[in-house]
Amino acid sequence: MSHSNIALFVPHIGCPCRCSFCDQHSITMHAKSPSENDVHNAVNNALQSKNYNPNEGQIAFFGGSFTAINRDYMLSLLKSAKEHIDNGDAKGIRISTRPDCIDREILDILKKHSVTSIELGAQSMSDNVLKLNQRGHSSDDVRNACKLIHEYDIELGLQMMTGLYGDDDDNAIYTANELIKLSPKTARIYPTVVFKNTMLDKLRLSGEYIPQTVENAVKLGAKLIPMFEENDIDVIRFGLHEADECNITGGAWHPAIAQLVQSEIIRENVIKQLTNLKKGEYEIGCSPKKISDFIGQKRANIKYFELQGYKCIVKANANLKGRQFTINERKH
Ligand code: SF4
Repeated sequence: MSHSNIALFVPHIGCPCRCSFCDQHSITMHAKSPSENDVHNAVNNALQSKNYNPNEGQIAFFGGSFTAINRDYMLSLLKSAKEHIDNGDAKGIRISTRPDCIDREILDILKKHSVTSIELGAQSMSDNVLKLNQRGHSSDDVRNACKLIHEYDIELGLQMMTGLYGDDDDNAIYTANELIKLSPKTARIYPTVVFKNTMLDKLRLSGEYIPQTVENAVKLGAKLIPMFEENDIDVIRFGLHEADECNITGGAWHPAIAQLVQSEIIRENVIKQLTNLKKGEYEIGCSPKKISDFIGQKRANIKYFELQGYKCIVKANANLKGRQFTINERKH
């Protein structure tokens, strides 16, 4: 999420669902639901920060079920946020919700209150995976919600998970392809992390569910992210931002998983070009911001290239952006 966003976590108290992976029931015991005052305070604090730009900033209500919370409470949050949009303190409101909690009535309310962006937790487009993980909605709910959101000209973001119960790499690729067809502006990919006292944790303990490893999640992520990017869809997050590590019992949790997946994509892109060259010593040029991704954690990429016969060093080149790179033979 951009630093320009003012993020408020809205726990889904009393959520009727019990998705296999969700630990909101334990989170909500500790998390406080924001009040109207909390919205005002969050915006006022942001306005005092040097990093905040009101022309770019959005007030983001995240938590995954915004349009399913108590209606009066939802309206109170929207009204307080809209006051700040009208004052020019932020450019719009961003919410995240479930695909089956979007209809015309809700979209009329959201549009009226300056909601400019909706993220849907699709999680999978395999109806079998959705059912096995007790999501309580179908892939058609995702398709229908996306169609309506486009109709209301609200920016669409989609979230998918990998490594759920009953899921596999083929399903994940199918899900990514189906989500791409729905033309979101952004996507987030969350490899499944298993938390204590969830259904997944019970299945893990009984041996019925084998959680995805960090390594598998990274390899799969390195296939999924380029699929979205090739279709001009920004992948704005890979992996959970933070988690209460004491409650994690398995799955693809790594605090730097987003960097791991970037390094994996880069490794694959670079080795494809290196293998067209004779074995030897090379200098890889890349954007100054990407040096550590090119080198890899614990120099993993450099070691990998060397094992293939390519001794590489990485140098910053301010003319390169994103994952662009150059390869030049080193002369001694
Ligand atoms: S992830 Fe599922 S169980 Fe958790 S709050 Fe969202 S809808 Fe409810």
